[in-house]
Amino acid sequence: MSMGESMIAVIDGTAVRTGLFLDGEWVAAGAGGTFGVFDPATEEHLADVASATPEDAIRALDAASRAQKEWGRTPPRERAELLRRAFALIEERREQFAAVLTAEMGKPVTESLGEVAYGNEFMRWFSEQAAHVNGGFGQNPSGQTNIVVSREPVGPSLLITPWNFPLAMGTRKVGAALAAGCTVIIKPAALTPLTMALFVQALSDAGVPPGVVGLLPSERAGAISSALMADARLRKVSFTGSTAVGSILLRQAAEHVQRSSMELGGNGPLVVLGDADVDAAVEGALIAKFRNGGQSCVAANRIIVHRDLAERFTDAFVERVRALRLGDGREEGVDIGPMIDRAQRDRVAELVDGAVAQGATVRVGGAVPARTGSFYPPTVLTGVSPESTICNEEIFGPVATVTVAASDEEALRLANDTPYGLVAFVFSQGIERALWAAGELEAGMVGINRGLVSDAAAPFGGIKASGLGREGGDAGIEEYLETKYVAIGK
Ligand code: NAD
Repeated sequence: MSMGESMIAVIDGTAVRTGLFLDGEWVAAGAGGTFGVFDPATEEHLADVASATPEDAIRALDAASRAQKEWGRTPPRERAELLRRAFALIEERREQFAAVLTAEMGKPVTESLGEVAYGNEFMRWFSEQAAHVNGGFGQNPSGQTNIVVSREPVGPSLLITPWNFPLAMGTRKVGAALAAGCTVIIKPAALTPLTMALFVQALSDAGVPPGVVGLLPSERAGAISSALMADARLRKVSFTGSTAVGSILLRQAAEHVQRSSMELGGNGPLVVLGDADVDAAVEGALIAKFRNGGQSCVAANRIIVHRDLAERFTDAFVERVRALRLGDGREEGVDIGPMIDRAQRDRVAELVDGAVAQGATVRVGGAVPARTGSFYPPTVLTGVSPESTICNEEIFGPVATVTVAASDEEALRLANDTPYGLVAFVFSQGIERALWAAGELEAGMVGINRGLVSDAAAPFGGIKASGLGREGGDAGIEEYLETKYVAIGK
């Protein structure tokens, strides 16, 4: 029995491995270090998790490099079936996944179950994609050469994920990479490493060969990624997180010209055009803003309403937000859990206070409650100036800002006035008007008359400072494939 065998935490009745997963085994970190994981609702200590060192990272890369050739040559059907087995195991264990996810991240259990279902769709989707990777055959225009085009896996890939969707941000990278034939090294967010450990356990139980998947929880994210990216055997980095960290990684990827996919921050507008159905817009805004407690890259950061509908929209929206229940995600009927930690909660409180100082009005919420846990109440601010800090930074919390625009054109101009371009939402009862607005909006994704766009079968990703590349859809697997052209003389 290796030391790591004994590293198990029991969370709400579910056993979770707390080691690193290296070359097919759960092991302790080389230096023996660990870090604590806490429940954001109760502030209780949940587990101590192994903290990988840069040397552990290189061991993971040794294993990933050794396994790459064989994994890349494993028949696509076999890779597909492995992903499908993992999908079935996750489905079977969804209650355990949801309990651990809520314990370490805080979202209500119903939302955790939703994330498990959504996240697992990527496993099913990519199991179906694995067997559909095609090349081409043709001849050059002069007819003298046959052109054969084939697709090959990029190679060992580093996958770095954030804390806000601890499972789904993993499955949409891992599913695509494994389907394409890449070996992977996963670096989960230090705030939420336990859900990823359950995921890796499911992959291991599904029969993933040693070295194909490595898991490196660590307190030293920068040191781990730097060590791996300085090694030319690593061929790809896929990152979901803040634009600030994404920029650092892109600079590091330049040294060995590593392929890069970047799912970065957003500052999503939700635009209510003058001809919108107000009830539908209120419903959409609630979902787009308050799902995941607002801690989502595709959250509606700025609600921009045509002045003709502003009062009706705002009154109805405020009423609905007032009815949202704040509490421990394990309690029945809770809509908004705690924020991920006190630092994030304090940052959001500061943004709200700043907006008020800049002239905004608090219609509901707006004050840190006196209770244990990193809670912030669902909040609506009106009269928010587009220039205020809160409209120009990702809020990442349960705070909605409402700004009034004099016309549809002005609303779209305000919507586009940001360096980000991940998602935008537009509400209109006219299909032509809505499509016109969707065309004008500078974003990788647009939701028309709905507050949710994520779908395993659709390409998720942003433009401008929101990133490079797409996850899910047909594009997702492309991120892990190289194109090889072979010229054959006739
Ligand atoms: P973050 O950038 O702080 O961390 C993301 C990951 O990067 C974590 O695993 C972290 O440990 C690691 N990391 C931190 N510093 C690093 C460094 N110097 N080098 C290498 N890795 C490092 O982001 P976060 O706070 O965990 O997540 C919130 C951010 O993620 C928001 O900006 C949000 O918009 C973004 N996000 C984007 C998407 C998307 O698909 N576009 C999805 C979810 C979240």
